[in-house]
Amino acid sequence: MIGVTVLGATGSIGSSTLDVLARHKDKYHVVALTAHRNVKNMLKLCADFKPEYAVMALSDEAEKLAVGLKECGGDTKVLAGVEGLEYVSSLDQTDCVVAGIVGAAGLLPALAAARSGKRILLANKEALVMSGHLFMDEVKKYNAELLPIDSEHNAIFQCLPSDFSDGLTANGVRRILLTASGGPFRKTSLEALKNVTPEQACTHPNWEMGRKISVDSATMMNKGLEVIEACWLFDAAPEQIQVVVHPQSVIHSMVEYLDGSVLAQLGSPDMRTPIAHALSWPERIDAGVQKLNLFDIATLEFEKPDFSRFPCLQLAFDAVKFGGTASTILNAANEVAVQAFLDKQLSFVGIAKVNQIVLDELSYHDALTLDVILSDDKMARELADDVIKRVSH
Ligand code: NAD
Ligand code: MG
Repeated sequence: MIGVTVLGATGSIGSSTLDVLARHKDKYHVVALTAHRNVKNMLKLCADFKPEYAVMALSDEAEKLAVGLKECGGDTKVLAGVEGLEYVSSLDQTDCVVAGIVGAAGLLPALAAARSGKRILLANKEALVMSGHLFMDEVKKYNAELLPIDSEHNAIFQCLPSDFSDGLTANGVRRILLTASGGPFRKTSLEALKNVTPEQACTHPNWEMGRKISVDSATMMNKGLEVIEACWLFDAAPEQIQVVVHPQSVIHSMVEYLDGSVLAQLGSPDMRTPIAHALSWPERIDAGVQKLNLFDIATLEFEKPDFSRFPCLQLAFDAVKFGGTASTILNAANEVAVQAFLDKQLSFVGIAKVNQIVLDELSYHDALTLDVILSDDKMARELADDVIKRVSH
């Protein structure tokens, strides 16, 4: 039996993961589930999956969960806070950690999983974007296995040779073609973008996701974060990555080789495919995903990305070029700006403005230690808060 810890069990990635695990109870058992504050949902998940541990990030909520579990007679142990998240990411009985927390909050538990040599199924791209160098070093040092479940990166992984550790060029790879749906505002004019609401931004044409990544898809910051994610995962230079807008989200990404071959991975837009792939790799298991019907799809379209309407995409390429903590700073500014937009304190186009100003105004550092990363993350958040007050008045 393979022991699995699911970080962010109450989220969109968490529930897709639990759906796959429930189909294979003979192979996988849930060691631990974690959540931020949703006690009600967590009680239900504990009843269904009977984990050894349940962690709530907030301690008051952990107490409520403990009381609730006692009433139902469950013997799941309840832990709280970041220490609890790190603990369940490093347990001996955990073989595999699903990093499904959203944002920088997922960094420390994901690092704990790396340092304990686990197989890490990475959805939490912000963790890698903010700490790329350190994270990849720790994965190597502690012999952990880092498998992407972000659908594009999982597709790229599937299209690369099984061992690409000696570099893309040595394996005959010319470029990575990173596909993007274009989000809900693919055809919206710059003028109209000024007035879009959080509800409109969170309505994605092809995927059902948490609110933060939905807004990131709408600004195309998500694709920007994915460019940075791909640079770290596949040791790629930004020039080796071409973003291709593909509105149907059927091709999840492609790899172009020197001989002109382009390999693609296709499938229904359903996160259970990359999750099942990475859980069972190098084997394959059923994921409950609807078969791809090419006759129904009939047409696949491709467009160039529009950097003028989606400036966040350019900011991500800039941040990779600057190096060091530039990506940490961009990620932190973006998290604050997206939250302000969701709270109706900032306009949609204000997100890119805040990100640009914070990236311009802060100086970045070589990002080799956790202290430097966390301190630049904090500085960027504080500056973003100030800038939001400036631009929204
Ligand atoms: P979500 O909002 O649906 O879920 C987030 C989860 O993280 C929840 O379980 C929540 O309880 C937990 N969480 C939030 N804040 C926390 C905190 N401070 N401390 C501890 N836990 C906290 O988000 P999601 O859509 O599942 O996305 C999760 C991650 O996966 C993101 O990094 C996202 O970019 C990435 N991702 C998601 C999808 C998708 O289809 N949803 C696809 C690719 C990548
Ligand atoms: Mg993705």
